[in-house]
Amino acid sequence: MTRFSDRSPPSFGVRTNHEDRGEGAALETVDTARMREHNAGLLLNLIWREEDISRAEIARRTGLSRSTVSAIVANLIASGLVHESGSGDSRGGRRPTLLRFDDRAYGIVGIEMGASHLHVVATDLRGRVLAERQRQHPVVAEPQSTLALLGELVSDCLAKPALPRDRLLGVGVAAPCPVYLDAPGRLCRRLMPKWNEVSVTGELGQSFGCPIYMDNDANLGALAERWWGAGRSGEDLAFIKVATGVGAGLIIGGQIYRGAGGTAGEIGHVAIDPRGPVCRCGLSGCLAAMVGAEPLAERARAELSRGTHSRLSPQQTSLNHIAAAARDGDTLAMQLVAEAGRHLGIGVAGLLNLLNPAVVVLAGPLITAGDLLLAPIRNTVQHGALWESVARSRIQTSELGEAAIAIGAATQVLQAALENQALFPTWKAAQAVG
Ligand SMILES: [Zn+2]
Repeated sequence: MTRFSDRSPPSFGVRTNHEDRGEGAALETVDTARMREHNAGLLLNLIWREEDISRAEIARRTGLSRSTVSAIVANLIASGLVHESGSGDSRGGRRPTLLRFDDRAYGIVGIEMGASHLHVVATDLRGRVLAERQRQHPVVAEPQSTLALLGELVSDCLAKPALPRDRLLGVGVAAPCPVYLDAPGRLCRRLMPKWNEVSVTGELGQSFGCPIYMDNDANLGALAERWWGAGRSGEDLAFIKVATGVGAGLIIGGQIYRGAGGTAGEIGHVAIDPRGPVCRCGLSGCLAAMVGAEPLAERARAELSRGTHSRLSPQQTSLNHIAAAARDGDTLAMQLVAEAGRHLGIGVAGLLNLLNPAVVVLAGPLITAGDLLLAPIRNTVQHGALWESVARSRIQTSELGEAAIAIGAATQVLQAALENQALFPTWKAAQAVG
């Protein structure tokens, strides 16, 4: 089964139920079963968000009658998604029983497919990582061995928290390329031609027997930071990942912004220097052609062949090597990081001028260089973006670290289930009994 989630985190606004209030023409034609499902979703999200809440408080907040609330809560408890967690403070009468969402009712698997690595996490229903596996692998060149290795890594991740397959809510995949709205289960033909014949979601769905969701890696990094990290207070956010390529995910008004065809956020192909090197996309002077893994490695090797003294060697020029050497005070590595920061700063300044996000989150191996990278970015932005935009934005590194994208991959599964509780298998079973 394939689902493609492109909606916002659950909206927690309280809608009045006309069944209880007798108002609102829009819902007159909605049948009772659909109304009950709608209300159940409302309650599930409220309990998930509040963590501890009484039935009386739910009735007050939603405008639903106490009997309606009690009936829905009974179903939520029967489904195993909610349990009674103790007593709250009394408001004069009996101490109310509190309800709590069971974060461990299901597990979720999140997979980051990089160009040359895999990062797999198992999370609970609140984005906590229960198990994690990483492996270097030629993902772009080898679809079949990649899928086999994914099977192994996922099994490993499910073994540690002893999560049985029937408690796996779904698997989310982050792809290292745009995921097109008209072919949601497939990877980009141009960037990953060897995967042309492979339906990623189809193959994984067969292996794991649960719904598979897929989206672009930077989009999912942005989603993770919005739910659990730098943007959790709800602000508009841009997530910029610098790795083999450079990409951005944008959260605007609580939703992933995709553009007309699903390729919004391709900040890597914004021209930084029209006379710069030719990018693999065919354009000249793209950001990705100047700060991606290969251009930085090339520049390092060129300096080394010129006899520049450095602890880098021609075989050790990955972004991780460069960031580590920069942290240790290696002059060449510090120069490479600072230059990458200045180029990124031009891209970030454009982003601030165009979209004015409140938070710009940077991710990828280079961020371990800390202020060596951030200071030149901020400095360039000061001179390239409008003052008002700079004053209202903060530029920071990822709060979730290197697992951000894999966590985001899992988060899209949670998001879909909170929007449609029928995706929880035990919810359906509880309905059949109730
Ligand atoms: Zn390009």
